[in-house]
Amino acid sequence: MNERFAEKMSDAQVVKDTRLLGDFSVIYCRGNHPDADRVPLTSDGASLGVYGRKLPIVCEECARLLRYAEKRRAFCPKDPKPFCSYCDTHCYSSEMREFMREVMRYAGPRSITRGHAIDSVRHLVEGRRARREAEARASSDQ
Ligand code: SF4
Ligand SMILES: [Zn+2]
Repeated sequence: MNERFAEKMSDAQVVKDTRLLGDFSVIYCRGNHPDADRVPLTSDGASLGVYGRKLPIVCEECARLLRYAEKRRAFCPKDPKPFCSYCDTHCYSSEMREFMREVMRYAGPRSITRGHAIDSVRHLVEGRRARREAEARASSDQ
């Protein structure tokens, strides 16, 4: 693991955002990959203790997304950082970006009852804003 990653991962906001991604991935994985083998996540973030004692239990496909997302979050150039699914910088590959969008769309509303009411409302508000901005851009291009 590279030292810069470990240093970035010591930031409280990065830890909070990464844990949120972990929680959302668990909700998504449980609902969408019911037959997959789900095991506690192994990743650089997990080795650093970013998720605390309760590691996300996910399948390999969701683990791959989380490992990827950890790196992107650690080195994110945005401040304040929006939800990745509504970001205009697109530092994700198109495949991972679509996957993350799907995870957020599914898990966002369902996370309200799982201790993420504020994050879930923020996700909805950001989604509406991103849609309005996209519509405004499209109409100014005409
Ligand atoms: S997609 Fe945007 S918000 Fe997400 S990590 Fe990349 S630059 Fe940051
Ligand atoms: Zn999964």
